[in-house]
Amino acid sequence: MSSSIDAGGDWSTRHSVLTMARRTAALVNALTGDRPDPGRVAEVLLAHGETGPVDLTPRDVSEMREAAGRLREVFAAEHAGEAAVVLNRLLGEHTGPLRLTSHGGATPWHPHLDRDDDAPWGEWLLASSCLALTVLVWDRQLPPGRICASAACRNVFITQGPGPERRYCSRRCATRERVAAHRRARSTASPG
Ligand SMILES: [Zn+2]
Repeated sequence: MSSSIDAGGDWSTRHSVLTMARRTAALVNALTGDRPDPGRVAEVLLAHGETGPVDLTPRDVSEMREAAGRLREVFAAEHAGEAAVVLNRLLGEHTGPLRLTSHGGATPWHPHLDRDDDAPWGEWLLASSCLALTVLVWDRQLPPGRICASAACRNVFITQGPGPERRYCSRRCATRERVAAHRRARSTASPG
């Protein structure tokens, strides 16, 4: 899977480790819940460089959802060591050996951990995500991401990259929580 390259596209930016890690976070979020929408999952794949059409069977989505549940544990890790323990377990139990592929010459050579280029979507998601998240831990010696601090949200997001450290997945969650905290403070200050 994931043999995506556009003629003239900026391959190195679109396939950077950070871009792949962000794709992982977006997919984990799209695959959370009892019945993930296959159309929404396909949209996320296309938005992150997959070349269409993306046809996902119910079985594909169910396997991807299982992979997403495992990957969520990496985002729950509070320290690099904790993230490493989870990643080592996933790498030991669910991925193949490190190999290079060019998808038959369609892309530059790059590393894969799935067993072959036609691996099912669930295996591809887990393997490509483990690879990107592992490199981020290696590069920064920090957990690669977090779960949104808003109890109403729980989306995962990638913390590494430019900008200050953040606790929320989005500006929307940060604003909602700030307004709620302000209301709580005001009602405590003037009871009744
Ligand atoms: Zn959020």
